[in-house]
Amino acid sequence: MWTLQFLVTIFAYHNNVQYISTKEYIAVTYAHETLHALIGYFNVTDPDKGKELFPIFYEWPSYEDGQHLTMANRYVDLMANVVLQINPNMPSIDAKCLAWNGLQGTRVYDIQRSNYDSVNGADAWDIKMTEVNQRERNGTSIVGTRCPPQNL
Ligand SMILES: [Zn+2]
Repeated sequence: MWTLQFLVTIFAYHNNVQYISTKEYIAVTYAHETLHALIGYFNVTDPDKGKELFPIFYEWPSYEDGQHLTMANRYVDLMANVVLQINPNMPSIDAKCLAWNGLQGTRVYDIQRSNYDSVNGADAWDIKMTEVNQRERNGTSIVGTRCPPQNL
């Protein structure tokens, strides 16, 4: 008998002392990493079911890129909704910026950036992505929800 285990590690600490990222940033990171684990799980345990659930992954030759391409095509809205359920006051574009984080390099990400820039100006998407993700990761947000300080 054997067991299948996936280890997902999320760093949300500053100097291993204190949480600094907002709950929204941590939650969307969990959603992203959970999708990695699910795609990997079905790929190993039940590829037929995996092909049914995540067809894009199986059409793409590279393991890592195929997972991100799957998320970029199908799961950005779901991940943004995770954020909005935690914080309905967060602007939806900010929630989407959190959901798109980590999906850079996919073709769908480039299309999203191009569409946003065509409405908002050159480099507008990169500027927005950096602003939202840095403030939520570093806990300097006035939009996201800070975790209470705690010693580990
Ligand atoms: Zn990833």
